[in-house]
Amino acid sequence: MNVRSQLVMVFNLDKCIGCHTCSIACKNIWTDRQGAEYMWWNNVETKPGIGYPKNWEDQEHYKGGWINDGGELRLKGLGKGPTLLNMFFQPNMPAITDYYEPFDVDYANLHGAPKGDDQPTADIVSQISGQKMEEVTSGPNWDDDLSGSGQHAANDPNLADASIIEDYGRIFMQYLPRLCNHCLNPACAASCPSRAIYKRGEDGVVLVDQNICKGWRFCTSACPYKKVYYNWTTGKAEKCIFCFPRTETGQCNACSHSCVGRIRYLGVLLYDADGVEQALKQPDDKLVEAQRALILDPHDPAVQQAARKNNIPDHWLDAACNSPAYTLVKEQGMALPLHAEFRTMPMAYYIPSLSPVIAKHGDLHEVAKHGLIPALEQLRVPLDYLASLLGGGNQQVVTQSLAKLIALRVWMRAKNLGETADPALLAEAGLDETSATKLYRLFTVANYRERSIIPGQQREMKEPYLRKGGRGFGILKTPRGGL
Ligand code: SF4
Ligand code: SF4
Repeated sequence: MNVRSQLVMVFNLDKCIGCHTCSIACKNIWTDRQGAEYMWWNNVETKPGIGYPKNWEDQEHYKGGWINDGGELRLKGLGKGPTLLNMFFQPNMPAITDYYEPFDVDYANLHGAPKGDDQPTADIVSQISGQKMEEVTSGPNWDDDLSGSGQHAANDPNLADASIIEDYGRIFMQYLPRLCNHCLNPACAASCPSRAIYKRGEDGVVLVDQNICKGWRFCTSACPYKKVYYNWTTGKAEKCIFCFPRTETGQCNACSHSCVGRIRYLGVLLYDADGVEQALKQPDDKLVEAQRALILDPHDPAVQQAARKNNIPDHWLDAACNSPAYTLVKEQGMALPLHAEFRTMPMAYYIPSLSPVIAKHGDLHEVAKHGLIPALEQLRVPLDYLASLLGGGNQQVVTQSLAKLIALRVWMRAKNLGETADPALLAEAGLDETSATKLYRLFTVANYRERSIIPGQQREMKEPYLRKGGRGFGILKTPRGGL
């Protein structure tokens, strides 16, 4: 057993209101600079939709992530031949048109324009060329709240039945906040010819060494989540740093701290690094369970002993025992990785959305008859859609999570109304009263210190454990995934 520690973020999609406060908090701190205007280390997408950059989930087009090639994992878009050939031109890399030309608005003209017959206007100015732009045709949230739109939502690769968006009776919408997943098998790090990207040993955060980066941009092509950006001023790659200057002092990330919906949970997971490669060789629909199986029980004395042998400090073990991420990802199996089939083993997890509680238009009679909470099969967000997003195509892992959410709602509603709360209902979904009460607290009134359990670090005192963790664990011993 090779125990490693990882800081993990969990999102409860049921609670995201799409306010973008998280994105703004991140932008204000990290990417409010020249060359970084178009970077959204944290962004929030409307689903169904095409996301940012446009259609990032379409790996037939972008060829990001890893594939299981006859029992060997290799980067989908890069191998020896293509890598050399593509050194100076990468056909699968997103272009600026897949993002947007960053722009600003010349508000100064509103009060500084010379006196004239007409009302002054505020022109749109390109932040790259400094020239006035005639028209803005794209932006960081171009399809925001447009899930009813056949133009954008219909192109969502997760939507098996695109006709759904033409039927107002069946249409649905949810938000998907995204940041770098700080993966256990980061394709960005494996693809870098300069070895500038590394995964920190102590918390698993994936970083770009700005002194080493040569701006090849293989990482941008290889990351299937398109979460590495190229700074057109410095000529270097940049990405989410998981707010490590904050987490090292025990504070949670800016996106999480500012989250209006309180949908984010932060904590430590311990995992067995020796099992990563084998787990990633499982078929797509087994990947979620294989990934979950790697997560270790921090209360187990054998795990603790092995963790200490790997220099994981005691206060990290304590944090792992109290981690809300452990509760939601492993204990309850409710939080699922985004597109596990990209095989980077992402370390951001999502609790699938249940809303709206009224199944669909026309169900009011049913609701009056049977109560507010619909049965699983009646949910408005199609199961195959959620399974494509969060289950590697496996509907069962999604339904297990949703069943717990439904049971919890029905049980708590009965309790709050003074009705009989049937524990059998909980048992059917795999819950008991203690776990249901714990989950209810986490999802509702849990305060900052309950939602974010982050052990601090003092890197300067922890050598050699806190040196760079290298380019991932085990699986990345072969440089660049087959180069
Ligand atoms: S491959 Fe994973 S770790 Fe690397 S940038 Fe993409 S999401 Fe982040
Ligand atoms: S701040 Fe929270 S609720 Fe608002 S969009 Fe971001 S994740 Fe969703």
